[in-house]
Amino acid sequence: MRNEFKIIKNKEEILRYIEQIKLDRFNFEGQKKIKSSKVAIIGLGGLGCTAALYIVASGLGEITLIDYDTVMLSNLSRQILHHDIDINRSKVYSAAEDLSKINPHCIINVVNDKLEKDNILEIIRRQTVIIDCSDNITTREQINYLCSVFKIPLVFGAAIRMEGYLSTFNWLPDNPCFRCISRFFNHIDYNCIGQGIMSPIVGVIGAMQSLEALKLLTNYGNQFTSSLLIYDGFNLEFNQIKINKDNNCTVCN
Ligand SMILES: [Zn+2]
Repeated sequence: MRNEFKIIKNKEEILRYIEQIKLDRFNFEGQKKIKSSKVAIIGLGGLGCTAALYIVASGLGEITLIDYDTVMLSNLSRQILHHDIDINRSKVYSAAEDLSKINPHCIINVVNDKLEKDNILEIIRRQTVIIDCSDNITTREQINYLCSVFKIPLVFGAAIRMEGYLSTFNWLPDNPCFRCISRFFNHIDYNCIGQGIMSPIVGVIGAMQSLEALKLLTNYGNQFTSSLLIYDGFNLEFNQIKINKDNNCTVCN
């Protein structure tokens, strides 16, 4: 018991996570792994707000929030860490403030900047898992490439209209990366502003992204690799399609 107390600082933290700690084969070991992990979330919109909320509440040790955007009134219906008082404020600071209240034990870093900047590579290198909550294919391709450089597991999520998508890329030699399947998304402009979105769709996918990230951090459950989840909220259907590695992929080969 003494070792658990060293990493999970005090009795208050053990009580905070007790229902997770009770999970069979998860136990203190799983909780300690979450506590010693670093996760970066790219994009603090609808997906990112939900993913950040759950992974921080679950006991993550350190989170890095990356976004250069500011909060707008039209974001508030689905970007649940931002509030009226945050309009025109940087999303990363708005999200960080709420997250610090949700779990004061998590170290929160903010990067109020675009991905192109030189320092991003060093930030990515330090992470245990990256969660891609961005909203355009160019950024997603950049994130995928940066993760491939350091072989950092990547949890991909996307949401539009009444649909959601999810996959995990773990850089094992036979598994595909986002680049291998990006053609599936060429016809979709993810940007909610263009095509509309039902607010809870981002909540469903964002929460699932945080769960897949927790599973990667703790090696708990089955990793959702080489598959794409397609969530049809209109008919309440979850479908999975098998995705293969593209042998001509310029990123993962
Ligand atoms: Zn690839």
